[in-house]
Amino acid sequence: MSQIRVMYNLQQLDSEIKEKKQRLGEVLRAQKETAELQAARQRNETAVAVLKSAQAKRQNLNLELDSLNSKAKRSEDRLYSGNVKNPKELSDLQHEIEALGRRRSALEDEILEAMVLVEDAETEKVVAEKSLTAVESRWQQSTAVLRKEQQELALRLHKLMGEREKQAALLSPESRAQYDTLAKRKNGVAVAGLRGNECQACFMTVSAAKVKSAELGELVYCGSCGRVLCPV
Ligand SMILES: [Zn+2]
Repeated sequence: MSQIRVMYNLQQLDSEIKEKKQRLGEVLRAQKETAELQAARQRNETAVAVLKSAQAKRQNLNLELDSLNSKAKRSEDRLYSGNVKNPKELSDLQHEIEALGRRRSALEDEILEAMVLVEDAETEKVVAEKSLTAVESRWQQSTAVLRKEQQELALRLHKLMGEREKQAALLSPESRAQYDTLAKRKNGVAVAGLRGNECQACFMTVSAAKVKSAELGELVYCGSCGRVLCPV
């Protein structure tokens, strides 16, 4: 195989390697959690925290009501026991029971409000959970496709690198240096196919003399883009 043909093969491999690496980068980036998923997760976490706090508040109010009821019961028992004769003490007890009654009424209102808040928080938690499940499942599906593509790309790249090594070994040190220098200068494309009299890199017409030389296996550069021409 002529050195020019080997350079051309190497070029085909390098171009595909570049393209596959680029796609692999895209595929990896696309697997990051989406803003939608992050927002759904955040909403769910907030809903759980709000519900927990509402339940704790309701429980504290209930405990306060229990303690208030016990206290009121003790005072009433004492008031109606007949053991208290002192009018001042009786009057104090009555006032205390009244005060406890007012506090109980306020507390019951607060408990009702707390119950409404707990119900709202429970509803929001159910909705947030459902939404997170749906978003997560969509994301899992889309990343499953990406994960598969990633695996395929990695396998293909591994194969291409092996083939590249084999082709590169067929080049003389001079041809290899020439290829590397030109590739660096020409955005990674050192060798262009020559189809008829058209350069396949810049699509300009190549002179008849150059076409003839290229067909004879001589080293010819495209007059427009400066790449090595290989008849295809
Ligand atoms: Zn060209």
